[in-house]
Amino acid sequence: MMTALAAPSSPGKDFSPEQQRYLEGFFAGISAGGISFGDLSSPPAAKAPIPEGPSLEDLTKEERIKRELHPFDAIEQLVMDARWNAKPEPESVFRYKWNGLFWLNPVKDGYMCRLRIPGGVVKSYQLRELAAIASDLTTGYIQITTRNNFQIRLIEPKNCPEVLRRIQSCGLHSKGAGADNIRNITMNPCAGYDPHELIDVRPLVNELATLIIASKEFYDLPRKFNIAYDGGGLISAVEDTNDIGASAVRILDDGDGIEPGIYFRIALGGVTGHQTFASDWGVIVKPEQLNDVMVALLRVFIKHGDRTNRKKARFKYVIEGMGLEGVMAETEKLLPFKLTRLAPTSPIQEKRSFSQQGHSHVGTYPQKQEGLVYVGASVPVGQLTARQLERVADLAESYGSGEVRLTVWQNLIIPNVKAAYAATLAKSLRKLGLPCEQSNLKSGFVACTGNRYCKFAATDTKGHAIAIMEYLDKRVKLDKPINIHFTGCAHSCAQHFMGDIGLLGTKVKSESGEGYHITVGGGFGENRKIGRQIFSGVPFESLGSTLETMLKGFQQKREGEESFHSF
Ligand code: SF4
Repeated sequence: MMTALAAPSSPGKDFSPEQQRYLEGFFAGISAGGISFGDLSSPPAAKAPIPEGPSLEDLTKEERIKRELHPFDAIEQLVMDARWNAKPEPESVFRYKWNGLFWLNPVKDGYMCRLRIPGGVVKSYQLRELAAIASDLTTGYIQITTRNNFQIRLIEPKNCPEVLRRIQSCGLHSKGAGADNIRNITMNPCAGYDPHELIDVRPLVNELATLIIASKEFYDLPRKFNIAYDGGGLISAVEDTNDIGASAVRILDDGDGIEPGIYFRIALGGVTGHQTFASDWGVIVKPEQLNDVMVALLRVFIKHGDRTNRKKARFKYVIEGMGLEGVMAETEKLLPFKLTRLAPTSPIQEKRSFSQQGHSHVGTYPQKQEGLVYVGASVPVGQLTARQLERVADLAESYGSGEVRLTVWQNLIIPNVKAAYAATLAKSLRKLGLPCEQSNLKSGFVACTGNRYCKFAATDTKGHAIAIMEYLDKRVKLDKPINIHFTGCAHSCAQHFMGDIGLLGTKVKSESGEGYHITVGGGFGENRKIGRQIFSGVPFESLGSTLETMLKGFQQKREGEESFHSF
């Protein structure tokens, strides 16, 4: 009996027979998912251990909330909230993020659920169930995130248990998708298929994801943490925007006493919202040692991250405090082997020689598997209806192997298509509103959630991005691909600072009251650069004409191969 928890204060109703049924199913799903639910008649679980370091009084409010009740043990309260369809208490809002549930108030009364899809690899049956969840229990949209992941919204409190149960029922997760956890691991979206890649990182991503999802230890970080693996090849994983980015390189000869072969270079301390790219650590790691090094680095962060100041809690500040050498010394204490330092003169072949800028995942490309191709489609600002998602599942089964890859550019790829069927598949995707033809303009729009659903947003980024895309498409013909990133606040989920053009939402005095600061010249990978702000507070009403003038002026005035990076 669930008598240990108080009923929420807001008025509510008892379980309906339908709710009763799905709550039972939910408990079954939780057990199947490996979450210990315990005896519900018992008092809440014991307090989580306090890590070494500051006293309880010095910890941030969030750290204290975690210690008073482990967020996974707040599942009982979540079920109670569902029973009365109640709004969550403030502390629950924080704890429920451990199950991937984000309360959207004051923007909307309801939740967003973020999943975990390691490497962005999904199967058609999972897409169908997600589409069904979206149409049965949400507003009916599914969004691809910039961490090759899915989000669904708006979910009423009474439906949260059912959403979590159904996500688990098709082999997906939302555990640890928010707050102080390791977020979805990203990788090259064509890993395993790209003929140019140096190494297929899928086994490494899957192994690390299993470790992270299953280990209690990794659900109490000082702050959120991003990891990306890049095996080289045509499409980047944009790894240098992560707390840890691992990039495959080939060592050509043993001039430095390093055995030739494939290794990973590690970059540390990237933070999107702080406009900081990860810095090369100066070591190389064999593929079979990579996840050991990752786990050791995570333990260094758990031990040394600042739990007294949220603003200084990211891994970047541990590195600033200790230096890269200090982090190396601490990491080596946790490893049974020494890290291999890489001299600046070491003869390495960098991971790729392909353009990292264009929209090279949109279109049809040959796979390393003979006779097969992958077909990449643009998903305007990453938003799909349930119907579109169902249809994508059908197409992936009919023409491919039933697999779909999500990209950090908020687009999708269907791999394992017989070359002869690629044109038919592309035609079907186009009919669905997901064009497979590269557009120098339209394929490069990226937008965060925006103020329709995110409480931090100053602007309607997705709505504005679509309107601006249509406006510019009629007026500007670009001869080179351009990325335009719309982000609604300084957290920069859409990574505006690394776009050719970056737009950071702000409040302005205008009819809509919404506008953007404009940065130009950002880039990533070999072209990494933080964009420079050139305009501030441009109202949305004049954003289209401003961008039109900028793009036309750029095409007229540039010299030779000059790009936006020249700014
Ligand atoms: Fe919300 Fe800001 Fe992230 Fe956009 S960038 S989704 S506004 S937190």
